Amino acid sequence: MIQRFFTYYKPHKKLFMIDFASAVVVALLELAFPLAVQWFIDTLLPGEDWSAIVSVSLGLLALYVISTFLQFIVNYWGHMLGINIETDMRQQLFQHVQKQSFKFFDNTKTGHIMSRVTNDLFDIGELAHHGPEDLFIAVMTFFGAFWIMLTINVKLALVAICILPFLVLLMVFSNLKMNKAWNKMYGEIADVNGRVEDSVSGARVVQSFTNEKYEIKRFKVNNQRFRTAKLAGYKVMSFSSSGIYMMTRLITLAVLVVGAWLSYHKQLSYGELVGFVLYVNVLFKPVDKISALMELYPKGMAGFKRFTELIDQDPDVQDANGAIEAGSLTGDITFENVSFSYDGKNPVLQNIDLEIRAGETVAFVGPSGAGKTTICSLIPRFYDVTAGKIKMDGIDIRELTKQSLRSQIGIVQQDVFLFTGTLKENIAYGKLNASDDEIEEAAKLAHLEKFIDSLPDGYETQIGERGLKLSGGQKQRIAIARMFLKNPPILILDEATSALDTETEMIIQNALTELAKNRTTLVIAHRLATIRNADRIVVVTEEGIAEQGSHEELLQQEGVFANLHRVQFQN
Ligand code: ADP
Ligand code: MG
Repeated sequence: MIQRFFTYYKPHKKLFMIDFASAVVVALLELAFPLAVQWFIDTLLPGEDWSAIVSVSLGLLALYVISTFLQFIVNYWGHMLGINIETDMRQQLFQHVQKQSFKFFDNTKTGHIMSRVTNDLFDIGELAHHGPEDLFIAVMTFFGAFWIMLTINVKLALVAICILPFLVLLMVFSNLKMNKAWNKMYGEIADVNGRVEDSVSGARVVQSFTNEKYEIKRFKVNNQRFRTAKLAGYKVMSFSSSGIYMMTRLITLAVLVVGAWLSYHKQLSYGELVGFVLYVNVLFKPVDKISALMELYPKGMAGFKRFTELIDQDPDVQDANGAIEAGSLTGDITFENVSFSYDGKNPVLQNIDLEIRAGETVAFVGPSGAGKTTICSLIPRFYDVTAGKIKMDGIDIRELTKQSLRSQIGIVQQDVFLFTGTLKENIAYGKLNASDDEIEEAAKLAHLEKFIDSLPDGYETQIGERGLKLSGGQKQRIAIARMFLKNPPILILDEATSALDTETEMIIQNALTELAKNRTTLVIAHRLATIRNADRIVVVTEEGIAEQGSHEELLQQEGVFANLHRVQFQN
């Protein structure tokens, strides 16, 4: 895991080296200053050579300036290193999520991904910056200071170090506890984010059921759990840092007392005593750093582990080795003995055989939950079949690249997702490099022209989150305009007009008929009136394909379709 962590330093090697080298120099200077003070008191002061004192002071000033400058580098460039690594990881994570299949999004809460992208990566960035550097510096300063202390006075050095085992014990103990606490805290914050996401995106449902109180109560449970978990971590942390504080102060006092005694017995000079007390601080300063690292390390590593877990999830729909480009498809689709299950247990489709000829308009009808949407989701490989195969122009779709397959299939669904941005950008989502003329042409074909002309900002009108709210019919027409731009040979209309009133549906129906021309079109509809013109109607029930044929044929068969038809038109 750590090795893998270090691979992220590679692109920033130079930055790391400069930062590291500066930190080492700063630490060396830190180690040298008490010695200088000692020499100042013991040698320089008794000599009363004021010009020497002035020049030494100036020398020290120069060293302080250098040290300050280097500390700036360590601070700024060190953070830059951490931020760079964090940014790389965030980019990688986003790219990875873009590649994921529908199954991943079915099973992953947005809130959880959000906390990976924010909280987790903050900690990872901090660790990337402080981890190796602080550890090295701490070890170096500690041993350096101890070695110098030994050379000054062995007895006093041993007095200072006797606290160490207790310090280590305290740190190891609290580290273990903290590790556990932070892990729990991260799980809880992910749940909190999940709750927020749920009730924000479901706000309309919440309010229409007036379940705000219920939501608040549920949120409170998660929020309190988070509080408890975080607080537990801080309790251990406070306990340990107070412990460390007390121990280091006690030892400073001990050194002062023993040092005074040694100095009274002429075994230690005043300069050495002062130097020594300063060294006790240098000696235990890294202890603070190490204990901070001990908090940072498990946090960052826990975050990194979750990061890698996400990164390592291979999308389950991928291009096969040696997948080929689809070329221009005519839209001849064949289902051969296709079975499918979402969860690997409950079959949704079983042994489906179906042939759709290029240019044909096929309508799917049947009770909801029968699997109509599922059938259509298999064609662009949003999910892969569990058994059997789907062929496109005679080629198994798993042998085609996802990109070349999907670029030739257009889907219009009941819910249209609009991105935050302008109307124009939203239409152009169907073809990112579309020219203004193409966009206007598409809008015209989708019967959007009049509506757009009525807007003061026209195509530049902001829509989505912080802009104009559109009606269902307007959204649907944007989706249709996108399709005119995309111009795919295969079109899937999944209940595209089901949410609209009959009048709006009629307007859109015209646009859709225009859109469906010269394409293989699959229409899922539950208003039977909308599919009268289909070349063929396929009736899907939970048992599979129950019957198929033209409108007239099916009515004459007196089967499922005839029944559905009777029920709808009676009302
Ligand atoms: P239809 O479009 O005919 O109403 P669907 O194809 O949406 O039916 O659903 C068929 C069955 O598959 C239903 O039982 C539904 O619960 C299930 N299903 C649909 N989508 C998913 C999904 N993303 N994950 C798991 N099960 C699903
Ligand atoms: Mg459906």
